[in-house]
Amino acid sequence: IPVEDFDLVIFGGTGDLARRKILPGLFRRYLSGQMPVESRIIGAARSDIDSDGYRTMIKEAILEFGGEESQDSNGLDAFLAQIEYVPIDAKGEGGWVELAELVRNDVVQAFYFSVAPSLFGDLAERLHRHKIASATSRIVVEKPFGRDLESARKLNDVLALHFDEGQIYRIDHYLGKETVQNLMAVRFGNVLFEPLWNNHYVDHIQITVAETVGVGGRGSYYDKSGAMRDMVQNHLMQLLCLIAMEPPSQFGADEVRDEKLKVIRALEPIMPHHIVRGQYENSANGPSYREDAENPRSHTESFVAMKCHISNWRWSGVPFYLRTGKRLKARTSEIAVVFKPLGHSIFEGQEEQQNILAIHLQPNEGIDLQVTIKEPGPGGMRLVNVPLDMTFAEALGDSDVEVTDAYERLIMDVIRGNQTLFMRGDEVEAAWGWTDPIIEGWEARNDVPKTYSAGSSGPDDALMLLHRDGRKWREIK
Ligand code: NAD
Repeated sequence: IPVEDFDLVIFGGTGDLARRKILPGLFRRYLSGQMPVESRIIGAARSDIDSDGYRTMIKEAILEFGGEESQDSNGLDAFLAQIEYVPIDAKGEGGWVELAELVRNDVVQAFYFSVAPSLFGDLAERLHRHKIASATSRIVVEKPFGRDLESARKLNDVLALHFDEGQIYRIDHYLGKETVQNLMAVRFGNVLFEPLWNNHYVDHIQITVAETVGVGGRGSYYDKSGAMRDMVQNHLMQLLCLIAMEPPSQFGADEVRDEKLKVIRALEPIMPHHIVRGQYENSANGPSYREDAENPRSHTESFVAMKCHISNWRWSGVPFYLRTGKRLKARTSEIAVVFKPLGHSIFEGQEEQQNILAIHLQPNEGIDLQVTIKEPGPGGMRLVNVPLDMTFAEALGDSDVEVTDAYERLIMDVIRGNQTLFMRGDEVEAAWGWTDPIIEGWEARNDVPKTYSAGSSGPDDALMLLHRDGRKWREIK
């Protein structure tokens, strides 16, 4: 879908996120012909460099992080010609007049706040005071959106002073993944799944976001946050909402977000014995969490697993098991919808198989449906479970499907003015409203996380969470 002419200002344009994700992503969109020739990207950050210096920095970043496409040097030079830079101080007055002169009023204006959230209010106020932003401008804000309900409310309030909700794009890059959008297509574009999508047919749902990396490098930041704030409140809860929401009346931003909000509001408060916190220990292949965090007495969790219930007609009695952690066995993110076993099997002596719809988000995106078939060959009536592969690239032919990074997809949605895949302020607040009591409970009890070895699937207690229910986690692989 083509986009209109735009000016995109990236505050924090010299930062890690801008160099690793935002600009390489925009370059890929440029190469696909999605950046109109008059459009401009304007970096704005504290570094005292000029536009040429910035272009050099971005060229290096794209060559390093841009993947194969970045080797197109003609394309890269032409892309860089559409980039400008203004040194700016979010907290002071320097640079704002220059920025006001540069940003055009007759094109789509987007302002990406790729800076610490403590600067959001300053940026919003100055954009307004210097009459750079208008009632149709869009702003994009990054995570973390608060660290609890109170701070998220403050951020929402400070942005609301100058921007309407319809102008604010809160990014959760998990929602930008191809497969997450395909999940909605599969659910709502087929007659097959929706009739089964309820407590009559679904036994349980598992959501896993496993990482192999530790917190090294950003340990002191992470230590104030932990897996619950860093991963569950945003990414895992967003995935939970998409899988559990009622069908919206149409695929519009507010219709979808209204339904997601209802899921969060229907989440039951979690029981302490339905949640397991973990922290990785040191091992042959690396230091412990506490060493990484440089906090020998840290009680922050690098892993969390939990059993949740959604108290509504559709999901009553269906557990949703969520887990996420660092330094686990493999880097993998997936949602698995595990259907109930057959009521009665006509195949005597055969192990019972369950249908599972597995939605893979990482490292390879795709969806497969585990179905039971007869093992081919003359060996008699033996049943096997095989994945019915719904990986789109293969079905549609490799050349037709580009691998787009979540960031570039979301940025293009900002330019198109489509908020469907962005979190609304009330959703974020509701999510904190659910996680806050859990975190407060840990703090009040001075809860000590269980240890787990690096490269494992997490603490044993997390395995027990499902074993107790006669179920098991899917293997992290
Ligand atoms: P960074 O520290 O690498 O860069 C910060 C940027 O902000 C720099 O360009 C700096 O010049 C600019 N800046 C700082 N103070 C400023 C001021 N007073 N006025 C103007 N500019 C100022 O940070 P980052 O890793 O790029 O992260 C940016 C934001 O994105 C943060 O909120 C972070 O939490 C979020 N985020 C980052 C990542 C990531 O992978 N890096 C992922 C998700 C979210």
